[in-house]
Amino acid sequence: MAEIVLDHVSKSFPDGTVAVEDVDLEIADGEFIILVGPSGCGKSTTLNMIAGLEDITSGELRIGGQRVNDKAPKDRDIAMVFQSYALYPNMTVGENMAFPLRLAKLDKSVIKQKVDEAARVLELTDHLDRKPANLSGGQRQRVAMGRAIVRNPKAFLMDEPLSNLDAKLRVQMRTQVSRLQKQLGTTMVYVTHDQTEAMTLGDRVVVMRGGVVQQVGDPQALYDFPVNLFVAGFIGSPAMNFLPAQVEESMLRTPLGDLPLNDRLRRLVSHSDTPRQLVLGARPEHFEDAALVDDAARARGAQFEASVDVVESLGSDKYVYLAVSGDRAVSRDLEDLAADAGASDLGATEGLVTRMSVESRAREGASARVWVDLDKVHLFDPESGRTLT
Ligand code: ATP
Repeated sequence: MAEIVLDHVSKSFPDGTVAVEDVDLEIADGEFIILVGPSGCGKSTTLNMIAGLEDITSGELRIGGQRVNDKAPKDRDIAMVFQSYALYPNMTVGENMAFPLRLAKLDKSVIKQKVDEAARVLELTDHLDRKPANLSGGQRQRVAMGRAIVRNPKAFLMDEPLSNLDAKLRVQMRTQVSRLQKQLGTTMVYVTHDQTEAMTLGDRVVVMRGGVVQQVGDPQALYDFPVNLFVAGFIGSPAMNFLPAQVEESMLRTPLGDLPLNDRLRRLVSHSDTPRQLVLGARPEHFEDAALVDDAARARGAQFEASVDVVESLGSDKYVYLAVSGDRAVSRDLEDLAADAGASDLGATEGLVTRMSVESRAREGASARVWVDLDKVHLFDPESGRTLT
C-alpha cells in the first residue's frame, strides 16, 4: 500500500517563513493528485517534505501507514522527477535508466529486463544507446521518468516535470504522463503552477495559496463549485470575471445592468447574514451573443447591452471583450474587493471577457446584446471571499 497521509503538516523555515500551514491530505493508493497554485504557495515544499528532502516542522507524514517523518529519502521507496532532468551526460539512455538499479546492486539480467520494459512503456527502445545531448527535450524528460519507473517505487513525486518543454510538446507529454500513471497504477503526486495541467491530469487537485490548502476536489468540482474567490479565479481559462453586485429587492445591481434574481440566486442571497454588497463571478464561457441563444437559455439567463472593445477569433469560437459601463470605477472597486478577500493576486480585470460562438456578429466599436447564464454565475462575500452556497 502506498497511501500517503499528511496529518496537520506544517513547515517553517529558520528565517520565520511559514511555507506550509496545517496541510491535511489523504492521498489514496494509486491516486494521481496534483498540487497547484501560484509561485511561492508552498507546493514544492509540500512535495519535498513527502520526499524527505525537507524536514517537517510539525504534524505527521505517513506512507503506507508508517510514520516517515524521520526516515531518510532513500528509505521511503519513493522516486522523484524534477523539472531539470538531471541526466548523466556521459552515460547512454540505457545506462542512465539503469543507474539506480546498479546502485542497488541488482543482477545484470534483471537490470536489463527492467530497463527494456521501461523503455518500451516510454517508447525509448530505439534510443537506448544514445547520449542525452542527442535527444529532444521531451525524450530527455522521458528518460528521467524511466529512471524513476525502473525502481518500481511506491510513489512518484514530480515537480513541474514539463515546464522546460515548449507548449506543443507539453501537451503531448501531458497525455503520456496521464497514460503512464494509469498503466503503472502507482500513486503520483504532481506539482504544477499551470491550472490547465492540473485540470487535465489529475484524479484530484489540491489548490494552494500562501501555504494553505484552499480546496481539494476533482477538476470538475473545482470548476463548478469553487469555495472562494481565489479558487474561482485560479481555475478556468480565461479567468472568471468578477464584478461588484448589490442586492436589491428582486435583482442584482451590477455594472452590466440590473440582473433579475432567479430562484437559485434568490436562495443564495436570502440568508439573514448575507451582505448587500457582493461580488458576482461569471466565466467567459457562460456568456453568449443574445441573438444566438434558444428559448430555454433565454428563460434561465439575463441580457444586457455592452460596447465591444476587442474581438479575437479562435476559429472554433470568439473571445469578445466588453467595456461595461462605469468600467474604470468597476475595476477599482473590484481591486478593493479582491484585496479585502485576500485575493489581490488575482489581478482585477479591465472590462469583461466573454466567449461567444463564431456566428456572433459582435463587432469592435459597436454595441452588442449579450446573454449571461444566471444558472452558472457565482456570488461571493467580499469580506471573507467565500462563495455563497
Ligand atoms: P514555485 O512554483 O515558485 O516553485 P512553490 O509553490 O513551489 O513555488 P515553495 O518553493 O514551496 O513554493 O515556497 C513556499 C514559500 O517558502 C515561499 O515563500 C518561499 O520563498 C519560501 N521558501 C522556500 N524555501 C525556503 C528556504 N529555504 N528558506 C526560507 N524560505 C523558503
